[in-house]
Amino acid sequence: RAVLPDGTPASPLDVLRTVWGYDEFRGDQAEIIDAVVGGGDALVLMPTGGGKSLCYQVPALVREGTGVVVSPLIALMQDQVDALSALGVRAGFLNSTQQAHQRREVEEAFLAGELDLLYLAPERLNVPDTVELLSRGTVALFAIDEAHCVSQWGHDFRPDYLRLSMLHERWPDVPRIALTATATAATHREIAQRLQLEDARHFVASFDRPNIQYRIAPKDNPRAQLLELLRTEHPGDSGIVYCLSRASVEQTAEYLVGQGVDAMPYHAGLDRQVRAHNQSRFLREDGVVMVATIAFGMGIDKPDVRFVAHLDLPKSVEGYYQETGRAGRDGLPSTAWMAYGLADVVQQRRMIDTSEGDAAHRRRLTQHLDAMLALCETASCRRVQLLNYFGQSSEPCGNCDTCLTPPSTWDGTVAAQKLLSTIVRMAQRGQRYGVGHVVDVLRGKKTPRVAQLRHDELSTFGVGEDLSDAEWRGVARQLIAAELLAVDTEGYGTLQLVEASGEVLRGERTVLLRKEPERTRRRSSSSST
Ligand code: ADP
Ligand code: ZN
Repeated sequence: RAVLPDGTPASPLDVLRTVWGYDEFRGDQAEIIDAVVGGGDALVLMPTGGGKSLCYQVPALVREGTGVVVSPLIALMQDQVDALSALGVRAGFLNSTQQAHQRREVEEAFLAGELDLLYLAPERLNVPDTVELLSRGTVALFAIDEAHCVSQWGHDFRPDYLRLSMLHERWPDVPRIALTATATAATHREIAQRLQLEDARHFVASFDRPNIQYRIAPKDNPRAQLLELLRTEHPGDSGIVYCLSRASVEQTAEYLVGQGVDAMPYHAGLDRQVRAHNQSRFLREDGVVMVATIAFGMGIDKPDVRFVAHLDLPKSVEGYYQETGRAGRDGLPSTAWMAYGLADVVQQRRMIDTSEGDAAHRRRLTQHLDAMLALCETASCRRVQLLNYFGQSSEPCGNCDTCLTPPSTWDGTVAAQKLLSTIVRMAQRGQRYGVGHVVDVLRGKKTPRVAQLRHDELSTFGVGEDLSDAEWRGVARQLIAAELLAVDTEGYGTLQLVEASGEVLRGERTVLLRKEPERTRRRSSSSST
């Protein structure tokens, strides 16, 4: 345990100053640390960059014994241990990547009381040897990092986390601190219940990240849109570009390199050495753009990430918040930009329909997606919507796209009726189509398909010439987000009425839509909706 030169026990503030060289605790840190040092349990909800690590690292140094940190971030354990060692903190880790003799060394150091911190992969606790090992040494505290992984309602469930309630049963007197950077009210409750932390003190920091500017743009030509963002607003900046698939990660990285951007790919299918190399370049060099699947980023502590771009729709608001949260940890202005289109919705619904798991699981995924769509289509402040999702209220922020250039809204009731009744008429012929064809019919385009299906005979043929293709797609997207229209997922993304569609068709319900922003570039292809 930490002592001052004169042998008296060090206080948390002494430890912060002598070991980390920081002057003061931030936010709730001091209170959290006091609670844990005093032997109490704590549940900490704090956004990325808020300073969660010190909340267990400092108590681990102040209290007798070793602080045991359960973390799913196996790939980062070596880095974390190295960073602590550089500060003179004695740290080690146990996970499946180690050789037996390496593990033995760490175990011996722990038993000899020579470790301040021991990082454990959660699956280690399924190994009886590990539990037995911990019983033979002195545990100062248990820290459960990324605690939302215990939630089946959350977006990042890890079955091994369910076993962590065992810690409390086995070591009732050892304080536990669970930490997460993402939790809705429901996830928060679930963490408390599953980890038996109902009696713990709960510390909930504001989830607002005021320096991040949130922007969501309709997807047009996503790579070109991305390039424009990089060139006009973020030349030479470090940033992360998220793509859904490995293939699009590689294609996008290649495209950016071809355009003179220092970009690199990262996904789970790449060779381990390549991944490690790319990650370390991103962390250590300036101005590297990482194009990645969501396999990249958890636990990455790079303060000056200036932008996070999404080329595909995240699966949940939690995911979006966590991924965008990697921007601007240093507090300086940063951008969270996303391109989103109807094809994203189709693709995600299809993935949900074909996903493993029971009906309840699919319902959960659908709810996550719906909340994400509502964020995309909102005509009011993104931040208000985002924080509201996490149960926190706020004022319109002035630092998101909808605050900066408020979308004008328009009465889209008649447009919605035209679109829905076109779908009705096609359905009467026993047919269903995707948005591209429906828009062609509305706009009165005599395409070969229209001719072949004789859809120019439909009474709604050409009734939508007043709106552009992009505007019609916007109408369809917003109706879907408002659950007034469904997109079927049998592989074709066909449009389908729902019960509430009838209310619009019968004129019982008005539909307020946001105007599509003016587009500078025009594209003829209709493939990227
Ligand atoms: P989180 O885990 O919540 O994302 P970290 O624990 O990684 O955040 O902390 C984010 C950054 O802030 C780190 O670089 C950390 O060293 C720094 N930091 C944390 N607490 C303080 C403090 N009291 N004073 C100064 N810097 C701090
Ligand atoms: Zn705003």
